[in-house]
Amino acid sequence: MLNLVLFGPPGAGKGTQSNLLIDRYDLVHLSTGDILRGEIAAGTVLGLEAKTLMDSGDLVPDAVVIGMISSKLDNNSKANGFIFDGFPRTTAQAEALDDLLNEKGTSISAMLSLIVADEELIRRLLARGESSGRADDQNKSIIANRINEYNNKTAPLKDYYSTQNKLSEIKGNGAVEDIASKLNNVIDAL
Ligand code: ADP
Repeated sequence: MLNLVLFGPPGAGKGTQSNLLIDRYDLVHLSTGDILRGEIAAGTVLGLEAKTLMDSGDLVPDAVVIGMISSKLDNNSKANGFIFDGFPRTTAQAEALDDLLNEKGTSISAMLSLIVADEELIRRLLARGESSGRADDQNKSIIANRINEYNNKTAPLKDYYSTQNKLSEIKGNGAVEDIASKLNNVIDAL
C-alpha cells in the first residue's frame, strides 16, 4: 500500500495537490477538515460540537478525529492506499494512526511536507475565504490562530516522521503543476 501524509500549514495547498495525487496513484483521499465540514453540513451532533472550534481556528479533540479516521479506514478496506490530508495534526493523532495502520498490516510510506511562507498563506486563505465562505478563512486573527496551532501542535510532527526517515520537504510556492511534479518525483523514488 502507498500511504502518504500530505503535510503543511493551512493554505499550503494540501487539498489541491491531494486531488492530483489520488488520480495519479489511485488513492483514497481522507481529509479530516472535509469530513468535519460534511458533519456540519449534515447537522450531526459531532458537527455541532466541532463547528465552534473550527470557526475560531482551534483544533477539534484528538478522540473525535481519530474515531473518524478509524471508521474511514474500515470502510475502505480494499483501497490501494490513502492520502491523509490535515491528519495527523498532533503527536497523539500520529501515534494513533500508526496503531490503526499497524492493525491492518500496513504503515505510513512517507510524509510530504509543503513549505510556504506565512505571508503567502495569509494571502491565499483570505482569497479563498471570498469564494468558499468558510468562517475560518474570513479574518486575519482566526487565520493567525490556525497558523499558531500549526506551529505549536502540528509542525513538531516533522520530527516524528523524520526520525523514521519518512520526511520529504517540498517548496509549496509556484505553479500547481510544478509542485505536483516535485511530489511525484519523491513518491516515484519511494
Ligand atoms: P486548513 O488545513 O486549511 O486549516 P482543514 O480543512 O484541514 O483546513 O481544517 C479546518 C479545521 O478543521 C481546523 O482548523 C480544525 O479546527 C479542524 N480539523 C481538521 N483536521 C483536524 C485534526 N486532524 N485535528 C484536529 N482538528 C482538525
